[in-house]
Amino acid sequence: MEKLQESMYKLIVETSTNLPNDVRRAIVAAKAKENAGTRAALSLKTITDNISMADENISPICQDTGMPTFEVKVPVGINQIEMKKAIYAAIEQATADGKLRPNSVDSLTGKNSGNNLGGGTPVIHFEQWEKEVIDVRLILKGGGCENKNVQYSLPQELEGLGRAGRDLDGIRKCIMHSVYQAQGQGCSAGFIGVGIGGDRTTSYSLAKEQLFRTVDDVNENEDLRKLEEYVLDNANKLGIGTMGFGGEATLLGCKIGAMNRLPASFFVSVAYNCWAYRRLGVVLDQQSGDIVDWLYKDDETVDLEQASKEVAVAEATDEVREVVLEAPITEEQIRELKVGDVVVINGMMHTGRDAIHHHLMEHDAPIDLNGQIIYHCGPVMMKDDEENWHVKAAGPTTSIREEPYQGDIMKKFGIRAVIGKGGMGPKTLKALGEHGGVYLNAIGGAAQYYADCIKEVKGVDLMEFGIPEAMWHLEVEGFAAIVTMDSHGNSLHADVDKTSLEKLEQFKERVF
Ligand code: SF4
Repeated sequence: MEKLQESMYKLIVETSTNLPNDVRRAIVAAKAKENAGTRAALSLKTITDNISMADENISPICQDTGMPTFEVKVPVGINQIEMKKAIYAAIEQATADGKLRPNSVDSLTGKNSGNNLGGGTPVIHFEQWEKEVIDVRLILKGGGCENKNVQYSLPQELEGLGRAGRDLDGIRKCIMHSVYQAQGQGCSAGFIGVGIGGDRTTSYSLAKEQLFRTVDDVNENEDLRKLEEYVLDNANKLGIGTMGFGGEATLLGCKIGAMNRLPASFFVSVAYNCWAYRRLGVVLDQQSGDIVDWLYKDDETVDLEQASKEVAVAEATDEVREVVLEAPITEEQIRELKVGDVVVINGMMHTGRDAIHHHLMEHDAPIDLNGQIIYHCGPVMMKDDEENWHVKAAGPTTSIREEPYQGDIMKKFGIRAVIGKGGMGPKTLKALGEHGGVYLNAIGGAAQYYADCIKEVKGVDLMEFGIPEAMWHLEVEGFAAIVTMDSHGNSLHADVDKTSLEKLEQFKERVF
């Protein structure tokens, strides 16, 4: 039991901190595709720097360590209850050690269990097999990309593509549409798993199962192989790009599975995974619980460093305007900013996500927010022996969830800038114009990169919402983000959505 727990702990820590090589190769290949000096190329440089920092620090690649999902194959006779206990204990330990963020929230009370255990957390699926070893595979899939999963029920009318019927071509249209609807919000460039058939539940399960295939494997079904290749080639013509900033690399992998369906139902489900595609596995000795082999690992050292230098050369030739800001920020400073500017922040910023935004609608803020910066972020935090807090991972979370509140809160408290990822909608854009505010897009998933910019945790309020949802007061230095929505009515997100929809329309004609 003790050995088994230790092996599960190693699997969790490796999965959270060390991306598998097939994913690294896909990211490096994406980088090679991007035009030097573009926003997409600079984002990919931040991503590869972040991967290296997570390697070095043995810290979470992204602060959202997702829903731990274990797929376990056991020989006949293995005690699954004991295995579950070992996994639970390892999850609790990894959370206490800052390798996983406390992510299990009571859906009715909003209370975070604090240890990643609770109803439905973690997810563990067992299956028996006739081999003599135990096979455990783990995926950590974050909420930002989970929210971009989508299920179609055919026949269905699709924006930009017309009717998707109950055949291979209808399936093609659904998958192309799924990439369009995700835009950059699931931290593109991403990977998709697709499930065809089943009922609503098993169709989604099949889609997620596809994410356990390696990026470079080849589908044994000839029709699905062709469809996978078609989607990968053509989704990258939509121009959504990394983080939705526009560019050549939108999708890095597409894996499709099919199962039988009921005569009356025809579901196509898509599981979207961000670039931080954390999945690993181990083979265990069934007697001792020791790791005898790692899955999804090989001996190659993928050269992320080399690729970063290539982009760094291009950076010098780029004509991006850089503006340094420190709160309190004036309306005049904000009105000078335009979409495309890079803002470098020094000084204070304050985290705020779902619970804080909901709270601030009805209550006063715990500090004076006039001229301040709100960061949409749910960090991984650890206390040292002297009870001081330290940031372990702190990338941006998906901003669109705050769309119903953001504009009102900015006006109510005088907030001048919000930082997040994926952009916001027309209500916030209007408020930015009326009030004099700006939206800054940080690089989703770059949790180590941004944690490095945080020099001190100055305090915390509203801890009753749990670590990810509390309001953390952070002192930063050199925290860079891109203006993607300004106070003059411009939104890069709206522009990319419009142009990618136009491009999607080119795929309306029957192909299969
Ligand atoms: S990279 Fe983005 S989508 Fe993925 S887990 Fe992190 S924040 Fe969520």
